[in-house]
Amino acid sequence: MIQPDRLRAHFLELVQIDSLSRKEGRIAEKLARDMRELGAAVEFDAAGTAVDGETGNLIAHVPGTVDAPALLLCAHMDTVTPGEGVRPVVEGDVIRTDGTTVLGGDDKSGVAIVCECVRVCRERGLPHPPIDVVFTICEEIGLLGARHLDLGLVRARRGLVFDSDAVGFVFTRAPGSRSISVVVTGRAAHAGMAPERGVSAIQVAADAISGMRLGRIDAETTANLGRIEGGRATNIIPDEVRIRGEARSHDLQRLDAQVEHMRSCFAAATARHPGSSVRFEANVEYEAMAIDDSAPIMRLVTAAAERCGRPITSAGMGGGCDANILNRRGFEVVNLGTGMRDIHTTAEWLRVSDMVAAAEVTLDVIELAADPPD
Ligand SMILES: [Zn+2]
Repeated sequence: MIQPDRLRAHFLELVQIDSLSRKEGRIAEKLARDMRELGAAVEFDAAGTAVDGETGNLIAHVPGTVDAPALLLCAHMDTVTPGEGVRPVVEGDVIRTDGTTVLGGDDKSGVAIVCECVRVCRERGLPHPPIDVVFTICEEIGLLGARHLDLGLVRARRGLVFDSDAVGFVFTRAPGSRSISVVVTGRAAHAGMAPERGVSAIQVAADAISGMRLGRIDAETTANLGRIEGGRATNIIPDEVRIRGEARSHDLQRLDAQVEHMRSCFAAATARHPGSSVRFEANVEYEAMAIDDSAPIMRLVTAAAERCGRPITSAGMGGGCDANILNRRGFEVVNLGTGMRDIHTTAEWLRVSDMVAAAEVTLDVIELAADPPD
């Protein structure tokens, strides 16, 4: 019932509309038209004003044919750079780019799948609950659209986010993340005339970092220092080094422990170098999510996958997405793979048949949600 050619055509159309974060105005207009054609009532929230972007989140209410709890279908409209002027190349089942931009399958594959499923529901007159389609803005720059989503405009509290790669997987767990920013201060002095008066911030930072556990900490936890800069000239003892990094974990206690470890490495190093000091900041980027396999949304997804003969496995992912935020804000959502591959690179590609597979599972989720297996 999913029409592969129509799905492909819509996807190709969407990837050729530029939509970098904060610049989702044109694609939002296009999707509002598409959704209205399908009989949905479309509105925008004020998230665009909050993030200084062209548009807010798009919320489309598709009326149900049965009286059942509304279902949420969510994908994000923005793409990463280089993502302007995308020229998709079709090679049989595969769609890739010409190598100069990302494809934008992250997350226009999700958007196209949602649209195709709603279209099939409407044209075939399939029984379905009210559907709230939410197309968010600014996912790629800190999940800002989901953070600012106006909950008063969304009836559904359960559903699917379409924003991960492998088809056949539904991501139910994702780590929480902390961003880390450190400033190590030493004392400047002429490196040749009076080195005794200086305290090298570079040396203090090196001392701290050399003893720090980084990379893969355990099965649940990772940490990285990704940027370092400081110093003024080769003949000046450096008085300041700035370091930025992150820590992630599926387990909040382990996350806190890793952040504390990183903090204490800097504190110990400054204690070993009199005259130096450190300012260490850790901020919450997003919180972890963990949906149980027995949660109602997972029972729905599992039943749908069985029904259409496309078995699905629940898994954990390494990054954060709108689902992390929505689960914190009172929704119960899991993240379904769409087929996007090698995302955030100019080698990004996908298979149309993977999008079709994800759409078929989704269609069954919608139908089963009309009569949930509780
Ligand atoms: Zn994405």
